[in-house]
Amino acid sequence: MKCYKCENLGKKLFEFYICDACKKSLRLHQDETITKNAQNLCKEEPKQAYLLDIKKRILKLDEDYISKKIKLLHIKANLEGFDI
Ligand SMILES: [Zn+2]
Repeated sequence: MKCYKCENLGKKLFEFYICDACKKSLRLHQDETITKNAQNLCKEEPKQAYLLDIKKRILKLDEDYISKKIKLLHIKANLEGFDI
C-alpha cells in the first residue's frame, strides 16, 4: 500500500500506511519520553491520566478534522455552482 503522505510503499501503522522516511519525519516519541510525560502529568496514576488525556486529544483532533473537512466541502460545493 502507498504511504499516506508520499508515493513510497508504506507499512501499516495503526490505521494508516506510512513509509519509513515519513515515519521518521513524524519524530514519534521514545518510550522514555512517553513515560516522562505521563509522570509529569500525574504522580499518582500516570498511565491512566495520560491515557485519558491522549484519548481526549484524539477525540478533539477528530472533531477538528471533521469541521475543517465540512468547511472545505461547503466551499467546493458552492464553487462548483459558480460561473466564474
Ligand atoms: Zn511516505
